Amino acid sequence: MAVENVIIIGSGPAGYTAGIYTARASLEPVLVASSVDPGGELTKTTEVENFPGFPKGIMGPDLMEEMREQAEKFGTKVVYDDVTALELDGDVKRVTLGDGTVLEALAVIFATGSAYRKLGLPNEDKLSGHGVSWCATCDGFFFRQQVIAVVGGGDSAMEEATFLTKFADKVYVIHRKNELRASKILQDRAFDDPKIEFIWDTEVVAINGDAALQSLTLRNLVSGEESALEVTGLFIAIGADPRTHLVHGKLDLTDVGTIAVAGRSSRTSLPGVFAAGDVVDPTYKQAVTAAASGTVAAIDVEHYLAALPQELKEYA
Ligand code: NAP
Repeated sequence: MAVENVIIIGSGPAGYTAGIYTARASLEPVLVASSVDPGGELTKTTEVENFPGFPKGIMGPDLMEEMREQAEKFGTKVVYDDVTALELDGDVKRVTLGDGTVLEALAVIFATGSAYRKLGLPNEDKLSGHGVSWCATCDGFFFRQQVIAVVGGGDSAMEEATFLTKFADKVYVIHRKNELRASKILQDRAFDDPKIEFIWDTEVVAINGDAALQSLTLRNLVSGEESALEVTGLFIAIGADPRTHLVHGKLDLTDVGTIAVAGRSSRTSLPGVFAAGDVVDPTYKQAVTAAASGTVAAIDVEHYLAALPQELKEYA
């Protein structure tokens, strides 16, 4: 079995950008893109207005398609499977895929991004796909002329709520504080939208319904009062956590759960293992910062491989 120069795990902006750069450096990267979600979280967003080079905006899924095409154009081999196990110690790293294939490489770039947070309520999983959703672009269409709710106070919640007014008659935004965390432009757009009504200082304490969502039980965090809100849709947009389960116990993590890297580099606690994108970033979490982080990882890999002893380089 051939030993690759580098395997990139993840197909968000960090992964694909690392693919573009390592492919252009003639490293013939293999990129594991996931079996169900290639393109990462941006494939679930609507219009991306702040990625430089697209003054008219671009839809998230289209942006990811362009990145994939650009990575493949330079020779990145994209594999649509999931990583199930990793062996990262030693000079040759082993990456096991869902179909049982084991890939080997001298370097690994870990760019698995982050996963949507859940509210942690009993019916949340059961009613997922039956009224409860994490993706307005995917599911908004099913809520035409209905009354629905979005929970969260960040950019994602504002973007989802505004997008959902294309379909729904009314969109409640339920937020646990009385002010938003979202950027001003997205806040103003939501405040100006006549179909959006804010419910402040409130949390969702129960998701009610048998076969489909029927209502939410809300609790006002100031008065403690509980009330029912009849909605047929609930979009949960409360942020995301770094996806690190594959490397627990293998790589050092930071206090906030991201993969620890040295300074501004992508070097993790193991030689030959690099990390990029949202999985290392607790702060900025933008498509463009993730892409930049993928560039850093690609350049770090180039330097790492160039410095390897000749006998190891000959593996690849
Ligand atoms: P976020 O900024 O972390 O905001 C999460 C929101 O959900 C906060 O308002 C938070 O409340 C609330 N929340 C968290 N846990 C909760 C819980 N258990 N129950 C109820 N509410 C909860 O996440 P995000 O909106 O997904 O954004 C993530 C990053 O992506 C940010 O850096 C954002 O700027 C970026 N982003 C940018 C754009 C854009 O530029 N167009 C679009 C989407 C996302 P508190 O405020 O009380 O903490």
